[in-house]
Amino acid sequence: MLKNDKNKRQICILGSTGSIGVSTLDVIRLHSDKFNVVSLSAHASVDKVLAQCLEFQPKTVVMVSQSHAEQLILRLAGENLESIEVKSGVDALVELASSNQTDTVMAAIVGAAGLMPTLAAVQAGKRVLLANKEALVTSGAIFIEAVKQSGAQLLPIDSEHNAIFQSLPWQEQARVGHCQLTQNGISKILLTGSGGPFRTKQVSELEHVTPSQACAHPNWDMGRKISVDSATMMNKGLEFIEAKWLFNVEASDIQVILHPQSTIHSMVQYKDGSVIAQMGNPDMRTPIAHALAYPERIESGVAPLDFFNAPSFEFQSVDYEKYPNLKLAIEACESGQGACTALNAANEVAVAAFLDEQIKFTDIYKINETSVMKFVSEQVCNIKEVISLDARAREFALSIVDKFSTSKLKEQN
Ligand code: NDP
Repeated sequence: MLKNDKNKRQICILGSTGSIGVSTLDVIRLHSDKFNVVSLSAHASVDKVLAQCLEFQPKTVVMVSQSHAEQLILRLAGENLESIEVKSGVDALVELASSNQTDTVMAAIVGAAGLMPTLAAVQAGKRVLLANKEALVTSGAIFIEAVKQSGAQLLPIDSEHNAIFQSLPWQEQARVGHCQLTQNGISKILLTGSGGPFRTKQVSELEHVTPSQACAHPNWDMGRKISVDSATMMNKGLEFIEAKWLFNVEASDIQVILHPQSTIHSMVQYKDGSVIAQMGNPDMRTPIAHALAYPERIESGVAPLDFFNAPSFEFQSVDYEKYPNLKLAIEACESGQGACTALNAANEVAVAAFLDEQIKFTDIYKINETSVMKFVSEQVCNIKEVISLDARAREFALSIVDKFSTSKLKEQN
């Protein structure tokens, strides 16, 4: 560590080339006196990670794909940056996340691929900024137990959970994962969601929507997987399960409210009738800056709200006929870990198939529901069992994708 680095937070960004990773570096760029980028990871985006290496000069980079790691090594040599160590593979990712060169890990890999490195950061007792909700959804109590055991500090990045966190009393902010909300006067968590790009569409129109329509979120600019999840509202479902674990509540303590403007990011209702909300422009740099510097407040680059030119706030209840995936996720949350792990895995497979134009938008739900029904009674007590169920649920979901893609092809011909 450089001498003048010792008062800075030493940051590892898992998934640095994604939407959250890039926003994290945008905030860090404004505060080179506070943060030092020690390590980065990506799957295969060589150009993007090379540009990040040129600007932030990390010590280590992990590219999960070996061939892309080899390309990066050559490109770094061409820039006289051979001193940056490049590794590849999942084990290297786990090593990166738990390295004693870092104290803060931004967990921003998409999907259950982020589970093992995120868990490694937790087990190493880091400050973990959790964007990768799938890691928590797929492992639930096992993940939270690891937080308790290691004393890791879990700070939510999802704008909704970050808003809930900010609306909690201080003592509850200090025990994410094992909060005691009822004892502290809290009666409900109000989880807001915009309803995504298809909120005003008829249910009958959803069968023929395209990946590019599904990825065109009205308020947020995000990666493709979470964009489709927002269109099906599976994202809200995953967030529902995430909220249960982060704030130690039951499904009945959480209420989903549609708020199309995405200005209120979520709320906490207290038993005296007070509702505390967190608001701001829909830009992930706000929760990222909050968590990076917590409990300090720093500039994020996000403009303040302009109340006089803002659209009026609207609130609606959820139409589950339009968003059956949200209902399925709430039911999975009530059913137990087997259902949640299977749902997450099936959904990743189904969304990838939809983005690849193999299946229809409405097939995503059918694949998810059939997979949950198959695995709902599975017991998941340790990480080995999570990984095993995740793999079996993916294989099962893929077999359904095959059937749907064959019938889609027949329909087209
Ligand atoms: P992106 O798809 O934009 O980025 C994903 C990142 O993960 C990239 O760096 C990608 O590398 C890397 N990656 C992809 N596959 C793998 C893999 N198999 N192993 C290791 N790394 C991999 O996703 P987002 O930034 O949108 O989302 C990241 C997480 O944050 C998700 O869990 C999402 O739900 C959550 N989140 C995102 C929000 C947003 O606004 N985007 C808001 C709230 C939560 P490469 O570029 O090389 O493919």
